[in-house]
Amino acid sequence: MEDVSETIRNSTHTSDITVLGLGAMGSALAAALLSSGRSVTVWNRTPARATDLVDRGTDAAGSVREAVLASPVVIACLLKHASVEETLAPVADELRGRTLVNVTTTSPNEARALAAWAAEHGVGYLDGAIMAVPAMIGSRAGQIFYSGSRAAYDTLLPTLDVWATSEYHGEDAGRASLVDLAMLSGMYQMFTGFFHGAAMVASMGMSAADFAARQAPFLAAMTEGLDGYAKVIDGGDYTVAGQQSLEFSDLAHIVRASEEEGVDPSPIAAVQALISGQIAAGHGSEALARVYESLRSGS
Ligand code: NDP
Repeated sequence: MEDVSETIRNSTHTSDITVLGLGAMGSALAAALLSSGRSVTVWNRTPARATDLVDRGTDAAGSVREAVLASPVVIACLLKHASVEETLAPVADELRGRTLVNVTTTSPNEARALAAWAAEHGVGYLDGAIMAVPAMIGSRAGQIFYSGSRAAYDTLLPTLDVWATSEYHGEDAGRASLVDLAMLSGMYQMFTGFFHGAAMVASMGMSAADFAARQAPFLAAMTEGLDGYAKVIDGGDYTVAGQQSLEFSDLAHIVRASEEEGVDPSPIAAVQALISGQIAAGHGSEALARVYESLRSGS
């Protein structure tokens, strides 16, 4: 049988790394690699998006196949899982023996499916989940979580560190995505909480900007409580002293105020439903963090 990895090691690559997808994020990743002195080949479905990077010294491949063949390491930064599948399926043979780093946002199971597909085709696979906006790429301020091939992670770490602070989460390719989506769940619920609060005060004429000026420092201060909640959850004892009780946390008055102002109470009503579920189950005197148990049990 042909030793494919040997063939690839011996073949002449025209660049160190290939980036597929030049949206806002893919362009930032490619630009950071270029700034770090690496030679980069890029491909984008819409070729015009490569112009700036070509002006700065990247090679633009005319096809996905050409792009994959140019480098031993291929980065995919496309829109969704389906676009990754669609783009890579026709070049499975060309990818064989190379390392694929997929930083496209996917669900954990989509990442696992891609890892299985890569293994089937002899491709090293690392899944990446980007916790940064494009402007943060190239500094240590952003974080990127990785899971999948440990060997690929260790080998590529100096390159990955060009983009952000790298963090490895294990061989199961779905893990980086799971942490990513869990973080985003918290973020979007915080944003929705702000939108809901802004809608409530709009009835008294307060602008969203005025509300934001008050809400932002308050939320920032409240995040200091996360560590305490985490200790209670990890300890598993919701009767521990010093915690705000579920009964004390009853939010019926906030739901009512929202309704009275003609504002859809659904974001806060969802929180209230979790709290009342725990109170109805007889845990009213226990810590607010017990809501975690309702979420874990799926009820
Ligand atoms: P953009 O919308 O700016 O770019 C999307 C890219 O995907 C373009 O290159 C587009 O090509 C390409 N694409 C879309 N569909 C297909 C397809 N069917 N076949 C081939 N190429 C396709 O998105 P971003 O660059 O911002 O995001 C890319 C990934 O990075 C996403 O998964 C996103 O969730 C993730 N990410 C982005 C962050 C951000 O702040 N931007 C933050 C964290 C993660 P074309 O130019 O031809 O349309």
